[in-house]
Amino acid sequence: MSSTCQVLVLNCGSSSLKFAVLDPHDGTVALSGLGEALGEDEPRVSWKQNGERHTKPLPKAARHTEAIRVLVEEILSGQSVLRDQLIAIGHRVVHGGEKFSHSVLVDDAVIQSIHDCIALAPLHNPAHLAGIEAARAAFPTLPQVAVFDTAFHQSMPRHAYIYALPYALYQDHGIRRYGMHGTSHRFVTERAASLLNLAVNEVNIISAHLGNGASITAVHNGRSVDTSMGLTPLEGLVMGTRSGDVDPGLLMHLGSRMDYGLKQINDLLNKKSGLLGISGLSNDCRALEQAAADGHEGARLALHIFCYRLAKYIGSYHAVLPQVDALVFTGGIGENSALVRESVLRQLQGLGYGVDPAKNTATRFGTEGPISSAQSAVTLVIPTNEEWVIARDAAALVPPTTPNHDPSTRE
Ligand code: ADP
Repeated sequence: MSSTCQVLVLNCGSSSLKFAVLDPHDGTVALSGLGEALGEDEPRVSWKQNGERHTKPLPKAARHTEAIRVLVEEILSGQSVLRDQLIAIGHRVVHGGEKFSHSVLVDDAVIQSIHDCIALAPLHNPAHLAGIEAARAAFPTLPQVAVFDTAFHQSMPRHAYIYALPYALYQDHGIRRYGMHGTSHRFVTERAASLLNLAVNEVNIISAHLGNGASITAVHNGRSVDTSMGLTPLEGLVMGTRSGDVDPGLLMHLGSRMDYGLKQINDLLNKKSGLLGISGLSNDCRALEQAAADGHEGARLALHIFCYRLAKYIGSYHAVLPQVDALVFTGGIGENSALVRESVLRQLQGLGYGVDPAKNTATRFGTEGPISSAQSAVTLVIPTNEEWVIARDAAALVPPTTPNHDPSTRE
């Protein structure tokens, strides 16, 4: 395979821009960086290259367009070899609604569809559109590809995605479960199939992506058949600052009995709950593990509830799947927290799970492999790599007429 082509991957958040230039064949990262505090008082771009860190302040209130200008004119301009190897730009897009079950080349119709989904992702989709417009202006000859977080979950059957609400809310307003983290769940599905010596279309896994946001997906024959996030990323597991599942009656209670407005409810459930809310200390799993070891009761309870809810979801996905070839942990917590993994697997002993303590403790900081004990249900840790999926999809969609087109990247 050729290794002379590169893809620029852009992930635009509401006030941030993560970027990376990587080889779509093997995922090697040549350059990566972050624009942060965009639209705020002290925006800046920082990046890492050849082991060195650099930071450049941006003018007050500068946004994605300015960050991309710095990327093009100041970072890539000193990297003419790298810039000349770019074959495509891959954009992470959080919400593609029901329109996209795969990655697509960006054209005006795709831009309109991302726009149409703004109601479903009001913070993210406008930022993605800003990033796409800025990237189109900066790289007019390069194909742009949109890779949707929701796409992998479009295979969910209707009984898994319809809420028990009046059906017209779905038909007229698109209110249904969509799921997120699809790019990560897809990556670990493909990797798990490879580790288990199975074809992707015959692998059955439960994939737990545990980061600041957390979701779990049931995968049947390589396709998502259920997932814990819903219309928005708020549903499902306990997360860093999000509550996950609560009784919807809580919202009426907060509104009618405690005079909460919509903004306060939004802040409460998205920003002040989860590990942070329960512990009263931190949303950061590592900090909570340390505090729990030092005897902090709130930290202990937060971790206990996090693991308990996760184990309940895993149990319920055994009811969804006819067979489970492996349970997979990924994301910052899933890849690194031996404590969370052990606690969850102990809770699931009745379903045949068991942990190998030595393997569990040794598997962290990017290592991959099984952590289950002999004779117990297979449990794998697989470091996720969403950027690589985006780069691969982008490279595979480059039209053959594009300069630098590399036929070896086509699927
Ligand atoms: P994001 O969703 O922002 O991408 P990450 O996937 O990076 O988040 O996960 C962040 C979480 O991973 C944090 O809660 C962090 O404490 C946790 N984490 C990272 N390393 C460790 C570790 N060694 N032990 C326990 N938790 C860890």
